[in-house]
Amino acid sequence: MNSNTLSDTDIRHHLHPFTDYSAMKREGTRIITDADGHYIIDSDGNRILDGMAGLWCVNVGYGREELINAATEQMRRLPYYNTFFKTSNEPAARLSEKLVEIAPDGIEHVFFANSGSEANDTIVRMVRHFWTLEGRPEKQVIISRTYGYHGSTTVAASMGGMGAMHDQGASLPDFHQIRPPYGFLYQGNMDEATFAETSANWLREEISKTGADNIAAFIAEPVQGAGGVIIPPAGYFDHIQAICREHDILFVADEVITGYGRTGQWFASQTMGLKPDLIATAKGLTSGYQPMSAVLVGNRVARTLIDDGGEFYHGFTYSGHPVAAAVALANLGVIEKEGLIDRVREDTGPYLKEAITRLDDHPLVGQTRSFGLLASIELVADKNGPVMFENEGETGMICRDHAIQRGLMMRAVRDGMILSPALTFTRDDIDMLIDIAAAALDDTLKTLGRTK
Ligand SMILES: *Cc1c(COP(=O)(O)O)cnc(C)c1O
Repeated sequence: MNSNTLSDTDIRHHLHPFTDYSAMKREGTRIITDADGHYIIDSDGNRILDGMAGLWCVNVGYGREELINAATEQMRRLPYYNTFFKTSNEPAARLSEKLVEIAPDGIEHVFFANSGSEANDTIVRMVRHFWTLEGRPEKQVIISRTYGYHGSTTVAASMGGMGAMHDQGASLPDFHQIRPPYGFLYQGNMDEATFAETSANWLREEISKTGADNIAAFIAEPVQGAGGVIIPPAGYFDHIQAICREHDILFVADEVITGYGRTGQWFASQTMGLKPDLIATAKGLTSGYQPMSAVLVGNRVARTLIDDGGEFYHGFTYSGHPVAAAVALANLGVIEKEGLIDRVREDTGPYLKEAITRLDDHPLVGQTRSFGLLASIELVADKNGPVMFENEGETGMICRDHAIQRGLMMRAVRDGMILSPALTFTRDDIDMLIDIAAAALDDTLKTLGRTK
């Protein structure tokens, strides 16, 4: 089947996630047929450097035999059995032990699901159940942040801070949002310490409005991913955690992107010195080779659930799926054996931070920033100010299309260009990525009819 026919078939019958359907019908879809190392290959034979690791998940790169073999062997031996009602399987049991070994201190239990959204739904159920068991059933409200992304089930989208998702039927009650510590927009002339305190106080204000007695938990991504790689100022989470402790509000870290090495430790909680009560993880757990997520449950919540909880009426047919768990174990094995976390912390993370500043002088660039192997290039209409584009998102999309034309997959969030490469990227790969991004910026300038 040639690629046109495939794309025609696809747009006729397939409703894609996060897609404008009339634009899709007009423009067709890009069919990805193969992948190799750090490249994806489309049905026209284009090789595209994957600057996004799929969707922030293919941490060990494509085509890893270790993961493929683990899946094949496990499928042959036991392709499926459930983990309900005191049943288990070998990979799920071993994976729970492994996750506790690498988790931050104070975490000794794991609940498995299939996606980041399900992990976050699970967390909402768990924290509300926890407070009920503690005799405080009125503690229901979950606080999160604007531009936070916690997934797309109705609960996860209500909890997230994406207004467009709320407007399409995902605005359940008892989910409140505060402003994120988005320095590029809100820092102004404040120094970093002042901005950290100021932005953490937005949580304090929300608590005094809603009342600590009604609040179950505060959830935050250590670095906001889909919201535009928003990196908090140093000290922000120290203030946040102190405020949570002061008001007896559980602190939840959504590490669906930051988990499994991306920030130079197993978890960003370790990089940033956080002590979350619960952690949502998914994406990099299996490097995307299988759908799987894991909620890491801290001892305070776990003890109450285990000692006083009775049956927890929650779970999924595929919780603890043996094939996914086997792939996760193989994936964590690769990360460990190849020293990928040390490499990100000591070598490629710092190298990306330096390399991306080569773009700072470009007329379209308002700011570059990175944390581990997460980065953003903020495009602006005018560097002086900076002045944002009037038609938000349009320029980002133009730049994204130019990047793909030039053989780099990077994503646009509003007018920020987002990068999240595989942990296996070398310095040379990073140089290539930055060179193509620079060329795409020049192309974008031309498309906008500007010379500077
Ligand atoms: C992707 C993501 C999710 C949702 O994960 P799905 O597997 O798409 O449900 C949740 N939280 C964060 C931080 C994410 O990046």
